[in-house]
Amino acid sequence: MKVEFYGHVRQYHNIKSEIDANIREVLESSQYVMGPMLKRFEEELARYHGMKHAVGVGNGTDAIWLAFMALGIGPGDECITTANTFFATAEAIWVAGATAVFVDTDPRTNCIDPAKIEAAITPKTKAIVPVHLYGQCADMKAIRKIADKHKLFVIEDNAQAIGAHGDGFKIGELSDAATVSFIIQKNLGTFGDGGAVVTNNSDMDKRIRKLRNHGSDKRNVHSFGFNSRLDDLHAGVLSAKLKNIDAWNDLRRKWSARYTAGLKEARSFTLPYEVPGYRHVYHLYIIETKKPADRDVFLKFLNDGGVDAKTHYSIAIHKQEGYPWGKDARIVEPLTNSERNAACCISLPMYPELTEKEADYVIEKVMQWDKAQG
Ligand SMILES: *Cc1c(COP(=O)(O)O)cnc(C)c1O
Repeated sequence: MKVEFYGHVRQYHNIKSEIDANIREVLESSQYVMGPMLKRFEEELARYHGMKHAVGVGNGTDAIWLAFMALGIGPGDECITTANTFFATAEAIWVAGATAVFVDTDPRTNCIDPAKIEAAITPKTKAIVPVHLYGQCADMKAIRKIADKHKLFVIEDNAQAIGAHGDGFKIGELSDAATVSFIIQKNLGTFGDGGAVVTNNSDMDKRIRKLRNHGSDKRNVHSFGFNSRLDDLHAGVLSAKLKNIDAWNDLRRKWSARYTAGLKEARSFTLPYEVPGYRHVYHLYIIETKKPADRDVFLKFLNDGGVDAKTHYSIAIHKQEGYPWGKDARIVEPLTNSERNAACCISLPMYPELTEKEADYVIEKVMQWDKAQG
């Protein structure tokens, strides 16, 4: 048996008529860039978040640095984040010309550890950039308190957790903005690239709308900007998919619960942790080997057995070759938890369209490895 890591084509077939209808509507409209389909999707996305504004941009990385630029964050400013995230979080800080400051993560959630933030704050600190890693929110209440005390901006990198919430808080409401990625493999993904910034700050919304469109909100009139727009074809795909995101996240939670029940006796690795009261949407289902030396052997065992497991992310940012490539960066030692997660993580196949047979086969293979460890 073979279990793929993604189910993109299955998902397409499940809602093919809705996606095809939206694509046809865009193709027949002759409005492909900044057209009515983009406007419709932006309104739907803002409503979904219970927020005032959503701006579609080219991808999830641009969404982060456009948010920084709209807030005036740039050279000389420090942004506090974590080193075990997808590379783009740090990249966006550097694209804005700011300094990335890495603090350690909570060992259970792998999100930024609020207790580590204050020691990293200097007079240059401008923003905290928590990542809702693997589909679970960072502790936004604690982060908000620190940001208020030190007058800092907060940008939530929510590339991985659309539809998640914390205990008594929604994504976006305790920060200046949340950024979303729509690359195909994310929980809400288009057939290509896309991103958005979601905010209640109308001024920020206006600035990002100009920045994404060559600094222009009026024909032939420009201030400095870029080209980073969400195409209407992608907006059409996303509009069709957004209606299903809660049901799809429920399915991810169902498969996660099945994995967790089937793997709970394992002794050679640990299972994902869910913070009580939080909705974890399992962008990824990550187990961690207890011994770092086991990881690659275990992964190969799974891959050889037909389970397309992967790692997210096996090299922490500050351990990448050539780091920091002449960019401004600072590490607040120690990054023990970030480094442990990078060394020990394995992602099991996780998507709404999995089948019971596939999930059970994954469990069987994983437990086969565990039993062999004695
Ligand atoms: C995917 C991702 C991004 C970047 O999104 P793109 O759309 O690929 O540019 C940023 N941050 C995190 C945590 C991500 O997982």
